[in-house]
Order: sequence, then C-alpha cells, then structure tokens
Amino acid sequence: MAHYNISVIPGDGIGPEVMDSALAVLGESEKHFDLQLSYTTYDFSADLYRRTGRKITEADMDVIGATDAVLFGAMGLPDVRDPEGLELGAQVEMRAHYKLFASLRPVKLFQGVESAVKAHNVDMLVIRETSEGMFAGLHDSHEPSDEQATDRMTITRATSEKLFDLAFSEARARRRRGTPGRVTLLHKSNALRSNVLMEKVFDEVAARNTDIESSKYYIDAGSMYMVTDPERFDVIVSENIFGDITSEIAAGLVGGLGVAPSADVSLSHGVFQPSHGSAPDIAGTGQANPIAMILSAAMMLGWLGEQRGDETCRQAARSINQAVEQVLATGPRTRDLGGNATTRQVTDAVLQALASTLPATTHSL
Ligand code: NAD
Ligand code: MN
Repeated sequence: MAHYNISVIPGDGIGPEVMDSALAVLGESEKHFDLQLSYTTYDFSADLYRRTGRKITEADMDVIGATDAVLFGAMGLPDVRDPEGLELGAQVEMRAHYKLFASLRPVKLFQGVESAVKAHNVDMLVIRETSEGMFAGLHDSHEPSDEQATDRMTITRATSEKLFDLAFSEARARRRRGTPGRVTLLHKSNALRSNVLMEKVFDEVAARNTDIESSKYYIDAGSMYMVTDPERFDVIVSENIFGDITSEIAAGLVGGLGVAPSADVSLSHGVFQPSHGSAPDIAGTGQANPIAMILSAAMMLGWLGEQRGDETCRQAARSINQAVEQVLATGPRTRDLGGNATTRQVTDAVLQALASTLPATTHSL
C-alpha cells in the first residue's frame, strides 16, 4: 500500500479549524483507497512567535522538506510583527527555502455557487511564478528614501522554461479531465523588456508543445477578458505580480477565497494551502468555509499521484473533488456562500458524500 509522510502546519486563526476538516476528509479517503498517510504536526504560527519568539528555521525546513508534502493552513496575525515591522509567514520562507517557483491556483464555478459575473463555465488554473518577476529585488540592498523607491522586475530563461513546461503539462493533465487544455500567457511585452524575454521563451516552449493550444494577451486586455469572458481561459500563466492579481480576480469569479485552493511547487517539493489567510475576523466562530483547505488537500493527493505515478492517489483526489462538488450543489454552505452552515456541518457533509459514493476497500498489507 502506498504510504506518504505529510508535514502539517495548521498556523493561526481559522488555519487549525479548516486543517481539522481537511485531515478528517483525508482520513475518510484512507478508508476507501489503498492509501496510508502519516502526519507530523508543527506549531509554527504568529501566535507561537508572540508567546515564545520561536519561528521556523532553516533546520526545521530541512526536516520538513524530507517528508513527501506539506499541508499548510494559514499563518499570520495582523498585530504580530518581527523587529523590521513585517508579518511572520512560514509560507514565504518555505517558498525561498524549497525554491518553490510556481503557485498553482485553480478556480472552478461550482453548481450552487453564484458568480459575481455572467458566466456558467468558469474552470481555470492560474499559475503564478513566485521566485522572480516583480518581486526579484525583494532582498536587494537599498538606501531608505522618502523621495524615491525602486522595485525590480527580472525574468530569467531558466525559471521561465520550468514555468511554461509546467503550464503545458498541467494543461495536458486538465484536458484528460475534460477541460479544453489551453495555455494563455498574460504579459506586457509591449512595454517591459523583461516581458519581451518572457514572451520569447513562451513561444519556444509552445512550439515544443503543439498538441496543446496556446494564446497570449497583454495583461491589461487579459484582465478585462477574465471578467467579460472568463470561459475562454483554461490555464493562465504569468509572472509574479500579474499572477498574484490575476489569481484573486479568478477567485472572485467563483465565490471568493473560501473555495480557492493553492499549491506552491517546485519540481520536487510541494506546499498545499488555501488561498486565504487566517481570517481573524471569524476565527473561533465556527463560520470558516473549509472547502478551500479540503480542495488543497485534494491537490496534494493529485500532485503526489503525478510525482510518484500513483493512480490510487489520483483517484482519491478526484473523489474528494467530486464530494465537494456534490456538497456545494446541494448545500449545506457556509456564510461566505450565502448559507448558514458551520465549518463542522460542511465537513460532515463532505465526509458523508465520500462515504456514500465510495466502496470500502480491503487494504492490502
Ligand atoms: P484573509 O484571507 O484572512 O481574510 C479576508 C476576508 O475573507 C475576511 O473577511 C475573512 O473572514 C474572509 N475569509 C477568508 N477565508 C475564509 C474562509 N475560509 N471562510 C470564510 N471566510 C473567509 O486575509 P486578511 O484578512 O487580509 O489577512 C488576515 C491574516 O492572514 C493576516 O495576518 C495576513 O498576513 C494573513 N495571511 C496569510 C496568508 C497565508 O497564510 N498564506 C495569506 C493571506 C493572508
Ligand atoms: Mn495575493
């Protein structure tokens, strides 16, 4: 039986609440599939830092990085800051430590969820580059000034090739699941030299992947199409800041952050977390929507399935997605989606949908 070691970092606020939901759903999957998951839980959180000054270290990340995947809730509390005045975020440190260069942010308009725009079939994956682009100069030395400040956009061929290869292979995998399988680059090569290179590398990678349709829009026009005609997109790929903004427009199209999962990946490591933060405004009230975290756990299984060629993992991921789809269609739904169900009630409904649609498996030993 396939066995995976998972590092679990619940974090702050609603992080631990939605993490409980995801772990319950994974536990139910283990009952139906020939699959065994072991967990090590780490209490890295802004709350821990406030109480003890302890935060995630390089040594911690080496230990965590030796496991098969990381499941992450949400971290950060607005009033907990480091000496420089910045918020704590293990997710940001892990991106740098594991060289996670792409953030995969799928959105889907589920039946039963109302979109803010006129669209019926929104089903896209936004891939945001996360190691360079407009954030390339984050650690550049600089003289603080009240007169002038500069950021730096840098695009490299090496990262772009990895990023676009990933986009085309994701499109191919999505086509197997019934989407058109198309890659769209959003860029600004009419005005930014870095983006001229990005477009050039995209064209080269597209030419190596002619089985998959590709297209390109300038980021400004493309942003408009996301709202006026979101159905034309399947996989969208872009640099760091364009991808950040685009992925949240996409989340807005399908009911908001409560249903938007994500995966930060390199070719070897993956951190799976909902797109939302710790939501201190609703923490402890039982109102958090667990769907984004549950879908992130499903992305983790799907990613393990692709990495290890493990069809059982892929099937388990699909079944979680189907159970979520079923629950959103009929309810119960949490308050952010116009319902009045609690985190627990939605989680129980997903568990029930899984249990009722899947046969129990006889585990091989
Ligand atoms: P947020 O995503 O936590 O909340 C934004 C809004 O969305 C809030 O009104 C919240 O109630 C709502 N919301 C978010 N997730 C929800 C869910 N699952 N169900 C129902 N409603 C939900 O963003 P914020 O308020 O800007 O940030 C709060 C804290 O989280 C900050 O400390 C921030 O730095 C941190 N943060 C962490 C991450 C991360 O861990 N990756 C990401 C974003 C923000
Ligand atoms: Mn963002």
